[in-house]
Amino acid sequence: MNYIILDMEWNQPPHVSRMIKEPVPLHGEVVEIGAVKLDEDMNVVSTFKTMVAPKYYKKMQKWVKALTRITEAELKSAADFPGAYSAFSEWCGKNCAVFTWGPDDIPMLKSNMLVHGFDDVLPPHYDLQVIFDDRITKEKRQISLSRAMEILEEPALEAHDALNDALNTARIFARLDMETAIAEYDEICDRYVKKPKAEREVHNPPRTYENKTDIINDREMTEFACPVCGGRSVCFDFVWQNPYKYISLAECENGHKLLAGFKFNRPTAKHVTATRVVHEMTDELKENYDARASAKGTFGKKREEALDGLAVSV
Ligand SMILES: [Zn+2]
Repeated sequence: MNYIILDMEWNQPPHVSRMIKEPVPLHGEVVEIGAVKLDEDMNVVSTFKTMVAPKYYKKMQKWVKALTRITEAELKSAADFPGAYSAFSEWCGKNCAVFTWGPDDIPMLKSNMLVHGFDDVLPPHYDLQVIFDDRITKEKRQISLSRAMEILEEPALEAHDALNDALNTARIFARLDMETAIAEYDEICDRYVKKPKAEREVHNPPRTYENKTDIINDREMTEFACPVCGGRSVCFDFVWQNPYKYISLAECENGHKLLAGFKFNRPTAKHVTATRVVHEMTDELKENYDARASAKGTFGKKREEALDGLAVSV
């Protein structure tokens, strides 16, 4: 049996009202398929990469473009989904199992298959992110691919190219005892029950300021207890999300990666009222953050400065 490590990039509809809803909701349209084939001895025997021309969501969303650097121009000459998927399926061969990093790629692939008239029948498939948590980090939470590479001290290829991400995932795959993990996969999934969302967020009561940028200098707002471990955490590298919200990276003294959001009321003549919410970082939040940071730039303290400040403020 061969192991297939699959990663895809997809574009999104410009607005939820423009989303294709039949025969299934199409939350994203696949624009790139990357995959790596390993034999039973974990040797890479083949790679697969194709761009896919979208049929429904042809205009690349700005943040998808910023993340993947995929342009409309290069997709114009690409294969359509039926052609690309058929080539992928043939490359996979008959006897294989499919692995992805995280829970998103398989439902995305299935919805694209259904919209293009295929049955949504796939080989057995497994979420390597869940297996990694069970075997290595044991924190019952989604960890980014780049963080997993760091933990295993694997050198990473540049992210957000579907083939590079698949190659990176394959390096993690080859480090785990997959035969046992596949045999125990149902039990692994049963053990992986994520904490309820509310426990992983820290809300702050509203606070009032003269202007929006005063908030980043208020330690009541930019320092808080880590929602994962309770350790002291600090914000840095702020970026505007819209005129009423900015977001920042944050990190706790134990290295947990977080994302903070600061929301304002519509500014009145006299003051601004702001609330804060903190999330554990996920791949999705990080992608959203990175795209905005690369498009608009960041402000406020940088990571080193913020963590130094945290160290001296004991
Ligand atoms: Zn922490």
